[in-house]
Amino acid sequence: MKASIGDIEITCIEELVVPEATTLFAQWNDDVLAQHRDLLVPHCFDPAQNAFLASIRSYLVKTPNRTILVDTGAGNNKPRPGSMRFDNLDTDYIARLATTGVSPDQVDMVICTHLHVDHVGWNTRLVNDRWVPTFRNATYVFPRIEVDWRDPVLGAADRPPATQLPFKDSVKPIIDSGMARLVEGDEQLIEGVDLMPVPGHAPGQMAVRLRSQGKEALMIADVMHQPIQVHYPSWNSKYCEDPVIATQTRRRVLDHCADHGSLMLPTHFNFPLGGYVTRSPGGFTFTPHM
Ligand SMILES: [Zn+2]
Repeated sequence: MKASIGDIEITCIEELVVPEATTLFAQWNDDVLAQHRDLLVPHCFDPAQNAFLASIRSYLVKTPNRTILVDTGAGNNKPRPGSMRFDNLDTDYIARLATTGVSPDQVDMVICTHLHVDHVGWNTRLVNDRWVPTFRNATYVFPRIEVDWRDPVLGAADRPPATQLPFKDSVKPIIDSGMARLVEGDEQLIEGVDLMPVPGHAPGQMAVRLRSQGKEALMIADVMHQPIQVHYPSWNSKYCEDPVIATQTRRRVLDHCADHGSLMLPTHFNFPLGGYVTRSPGGFTFTPHM
């Protein structure tokens, strides 16, 4: 699945699709499903399982001279006692990346929008019992706020071990190798690729804004988990760490996408991957694309 923004090419590298219990949203009910069935069934909601479907993936971004991977999924061989659906995975993610003609050594930049378990996994892989960088020639861009928030040494020591594991095996080895670039989340990385702060779901979460030839895409990470949230911007997922800020950010992002005609690309919409947002009486309308 591909999209183009001017001379920037975006390809989805899917790692896996997981069911997600309806407790994802506290406000979910059968009436909402009935009203928005065409939007949700079958790709975003599976009535047989009574569950949402969530895609775990990366976006491969090719500019005329850079190869960038945005978010790196859950990764293989990682012990995840607190998130069993990501525990000790064995997927063919790297082979799927290779089908696009890109080997790990050809990736020259990795951007992690935030440091949750499903966005950092392929940063590293297990070699001789050590976690080593998967993308050996890349600069890894991490939000400084996220690093400070999740590093057990810097203050996250009282968090459950499960939340510390992704930091220890997928972030810390990158920092220790000297391959990390810590950013504030509002900089231009290269021409046409800018960061935009979108906190709430995670304190340092950042969106990636791609612009070329008058067109724009906005990779919004986990500002939304499901397309139903375009219709209900006040709905937070149960994973949003600061619900008040997450809601404010979601409205701001929807406004931005409507104002700029941006192709909105969340991380977890299963299919369609993303789409365009327009204003409608009382809210927003979502037009799937990609
Ligand atoms: Zn996520």
